[in-house]
Amino acid sequence: SVAVMWFRRDLRLSDNPALVEAAREHDRVVPLFVDDHALRDPAGANRRWFMAGCLSELHDRTDGALVVRKDSPERAVRAVARQAGADAVYVTGDSGPYGSARDERVADALGEDDVELRPVGTPYAVPPGSIFTGSDTPYKVFTPFSRAWRSWGWDDPVDAPHGVRWVDDVRSDGLPEAPSTSADLPTPGEEAAKRRLSAFLDGPVDSYADDRDRPAKDGTSRLSPYLKYGCVHPRQVLSRLGRGKGSETFATELAWRDFYADVLLHNPDSARQSLDPDMAGIELDEGAEADERFAAWCEGRTGFPIVDAGMRQLTAMGWMHNRLRMIVGSFLVKDLHIDWTRGARHFMDHLVDGDLASNQHGWQWVAGTGTDAAPYFRVFNPTSQSERFDPQGDYIRRWVPELADVEGKAVHQPAAAGDDLFSGAASDYPEPMVDHKEEREEALRRWRAATGKG
Ligand code: FAD
Repeated sequence: SVAVMWFRRDLRLSDNPALVEAAREHDRVVPLFVDDHALRDPAGANRRWFMAGCLSELHDRTDGALVVRKDSPERAVRAVARQAGADAVYVTGDSGPYGSARDERVADALGEDDVELRPVGTPYAVPPGSIFTGSDTPYKVFTPFSRAWRSWGWDDPVDAPHGVRWVDDVRSDGLPEAPSTSADLPTPGEEAAKRRLSAFLDGPVDSYADDRDRPAKDGTSRLSPYLKYGCVHPRQVLSRLGRGKGSETFATELAWRDFYADVLLHNPDSARQSLDPDMAGIELDEGAEADERFAAWCEGRTGFPIVDAGMRQLTAMGWMHNRLRMIVGSFLVKDLHIDWTRGARHFMDHLVDGDLASNQHGWQWVAGTGTDAAPYFRVFNPTSQSERFDPQGDYIRRWVPELADVEGKAVHQPAAAGDDLFSGAASDYPEPMVDHKEEREEALRRWRAATGKG
């Protein structure tokens, strides 16, 4: 018998339970990818480039058998199953709002031909929707979720199935083209993910607890795009972690990824709107002036060095350090009073790891609008964040070349250091676009007006 293995966010052969089951239950397997415009169009060039690379590797590793169809999933999957004479289609389950609706449509379409859609596993260590509080409600707060998540546990990884007989005579539309991008992106694919994981576990993980908040140190794993596209499964990462403080902290970060997928499952609207209904009515800046401010933020010319460094890293690498994601997010929402969804959209256009659950809820956390969000009155001061997390200013100097020659603490707040600093390249650096103290008061005023709190 023949099965179709429809790859989505699981672009790997090792530790892929859906593929293992397809190969165990059937003589031959059609590897399929559907280039679905509903997912492709909003992805941005960086993610499309990365995904194209992952697919090219998968094509090689399936001996050229990978079938790519550019069509709606319900038509494409059904057509491929028919052409191959398959009686089942295997997938890794998808609990996102788009993915779950799509899978229902595909299951219905396949059902007309008596073909079954069989979800096996999920992209998460603990499947979203598994863990509930003692009173049977979904968790809204991370720390108790993470405790329950650890005690829930996860399976051991499984090897890639040996000697799979791939069906290689099904029509393919060809691999998607990698769009051009000027960002310096990581090598795509499963092999690169393994190398990255090993390099991280061979050293940096030991000091992860201390270094993860130091953007100048590159102390994090950079596994996010690989996890996003399933080049590696979190189970494969967790199974190789040791017992030290670094490993413990790292596992907790992976729990955030699962937490946000769980929150999205229970609150599908949170991808588009604030979870806290009070915050939905907060006064926001819109119009031409807000558009100009938004453009300055996107381009990294706000006059706040740490914010500009983060935004320029995003443009240059399609990735930004987590501490910076929080700092620039807070600045957009609380200093510029611009809707978090606009910032989230810009991130999704650029991030190579752009992921609906992690991104939208990361933004809601920063904006103080989500479950378990930072309280709104806790407004990040960009200058003190800079002094605390980039104490030597090396991160700023790396990403804001105008300030590369500014010495000492002045790099955090060059405008305050006086005119003599503004010579040479530094004279091209903009003045701060707002007064942080004033905007902080303004943000709190709007928050009090919206919520009646404070
Ligand atoms: P590491 O520190 O090495 O962490 C390991 C892994 O744990 C990450 O790869 C990621 O899968 C997971 N992780 C770590 N922190 C978080 C977190 N706060 N939330 C969810 N998962 C986490 N992460 C994304 O993968 N995609 C996004 O689109 C995304 N958008 C974000 C937007 C904002 C405003 C904020 C504040 C955070 C966002 N994050 C997002 C979370 C985090 O910034 C990135 O996962 C992390 O920077 C990726 O780098 P790394 O792999 O080196 O992380």
